[in-house]
Amino acid sequence: MPLSIQHDALLPGRNYIGRWCDAEEGRRFDVTDPATDRVFASVPDSGAAEARAALEAAHAAFPAWRAVPAKQRAQMLKRWNDLIVAHTEDLGRLISREQGKPLAEGRGEVAYAASYVEWFAEEATRANGDVIPAPVPGRRMFALKEPVGVVAAITPWNFPAAMIARKIAPALAAGCTVVAKPAEDTPLTSLALVKLAEEAGLPAGVLNIVTASRERAAEVVDVWLDDARVRKISFTGSTPVGKHLARRSADTLKKLSLELGGNAPFIVFDDADLDAAADGLMTAKFRNGGQTCVSPNRVFVQDAVHDRFVEKLAARIAALKVGPASDDGSQIGPMINAKAVEKIERHILDAVEGGARLVVGGHRLAALGRNFFEPTLLVDVHATMACSCEETFGPVVPVTRFQTEDEVIAAANGTPFGLASYFYSNDVKRIGRVADALDSGLVGVNEGALAAEAAPFGGVKESGYGREGSVHGLDDYMSLKYVCQGQL
Ligand code: ADP
Repeated sequence: MPLSIQHDALLPGRNYIGRWCDAEEGRRFDVTDPATDRVFASVPDSGAAEARAALEAAHAAFPAWRAVPAKQRAQMLKRWNDLIVAHTEDLGRLISREQGKPLAEGRGEVAYAASYVEWFAEEATRANGDVIPAPVPGRRMFALKEPVGVVAAITPWNFPAAMIARKIAPALAAGCTVVAKPAEDTPLTSLALVKLAEEAGLPAGVLNIVTASRERAAEVVDVWLDDARVRKISFTGSTPVGKHLARRSADTLKKLSLELGGNAPFIVFDDADLDAAADGLMTAKFRNGGQTCVSPNRVFVQDAVHDRFVEKLAARIAALKVGPASDDGSQIGPMINAKAVEKIERHILDAVEGGARLVVGGHRLAALGRNFFEPTLLVDVHATMACSCEETFGPVVPVTRFQTEDEVIAAANGTPFGLASYFYSNDVKRIGRVADALDSGLVGVNEGALAAEAAPFGGVKESGYGREGSVHGLDDYMSLKYVCQGQL
C-alpha cells in the first residue's frame, strides 16, 4: 500500500507566485515514487516566464517585508513552525513517498526542518548590529544589519523539507524575499511547506516557488542568475552545478551560499571503542540509505583493530532491513532513481576489479524494485578507486586499512572536498590533534550524527562556502551597513 496523505490541501500541485498558478500552456511533469517507479502526481514544468514572474513578485514584496518589525516576522515563522509540526504525519509520508526514505526518517526530517524554522524565528529578533566607539570626537558610528534583498533558493532531492526550510527560514527572518526552485525528483514536499507558510500568514509575494523538470531547471535558474535584482543564491547540490552558479552570478556579483558535495572520511583509531565506532558509522552512513552529503564515503581503520572492526560492521550491515517506506520495518529505502543505482554498481564493480573484496551485499535487490540496492561492505579499498574519489551516495561502506596517524590524515585530506569528517579515538591528545588537522567544515569526534539547527553546517574547499543554522546562519542573508553620524 503506497503512503497516503490525509489533507489534500497539502498537495496544491501548482506554483506559488503571489497566488497558486500553473505554468504557461499548462506544461507539467511527472513525480515518481522511487519504491514502485510509478508516477503518482504532476507539477508545473516552469520556464523563464514563471521564473521572471516569481522574481517580479519577490522584488515588489521586498520593501514592505523588510519594513515588517523583526518580532512580527518571527511570529509568522513561529506559526509556520507550529503548522509544520502539526502536519508531521502527512509531511513525513509525503517525503517518504516522493523521496523513498523510511517513514521514521520522513517524520524525523519534518522535525529537523521545523527546527530550523523555529531557530530562525528566534534569531530574527536578535539580528543586532554594533555601536562602534568612534576614533575621533563628535561622531557616532554604527554597523547595521540589513537584508540582502531577493534570495534564490535551489535545493536537492535528498532532504526535500529540510534543505528548503533551512534556506527559506533564515532568508525570511532576515527580511529577504524568496524565489525557490526545488529538485525535480521531490517537488511536492516543498509545495506543501509553502502552502503552510501561506496559512501562517506570510504576505503574497514574500515567498515564491516554481517547479521545473530537469530539462527546464537551468532555464528557470538562469533568469535569476542573470538578473541583478536577485542579490543572493543559496544552493545545495552537486559541485559542478555549484561552480556553474558561482561563475554565472559573477556578472552581478551576488552573495552565494554553496553547500556542495562531500567525500567524508571516517577514521577508526586503534584506541577507539569499536562498538561505539561501528554504531556511529551505521548511523552516519545509512541515514537516507547513504544519500546524504555528510555520509562517510571512505572508512579508514587502523591495522591492529581492522579485522575486529570489520567483523562487527559486517554483522550490523547484514542485519539491515531493506524495503519500501510503506513497510514499517524498513531501515533502507530505494535509491532515488535508476541513475543513482547505476553509479553504485559502477563503484562496486570498479573496486572489485581493482582488488577490493566484497564482505556483505554488492547487488541490486530486483525483487523489491528497480531502485533497491543491498547494503554493502567492501574491504581492501584503495585511494585511486572510483568509490574513494567520488561520492557514491548509496549504502556502500568501503574500508581501507592504515598504519599511522600522519598517513591517515594525509589520506583523509587528500580530496578536493571538505564537508564532514569523523573519527573515533579515546586518546585525548590525539582527539585535539586530529580535529585540528582535518580539512572539513564539520568534524564528528566519537559521534556519527552531527547536524543540528544550533550548529553551523557547511564546508571548505570544493564543498562550498557559507554556513546554514547556528548564530552565524542569518549573516549569510544580511549585509552590514556602516552609518557614521558627524557634527555631534
Ligand atoms: P543531484 O545530482 O543530486 O541531482 P544537482 O546539483 O544536479 O544534484 O541538483 C541540485 C539542484 O540543482 C536541483 O534543484 C536541480 O534541478 C538544480 N540544477 C541542476 N542543474 C542545474 C543548472 N544547470 N542550473 C541551475 N540549476 C540546476
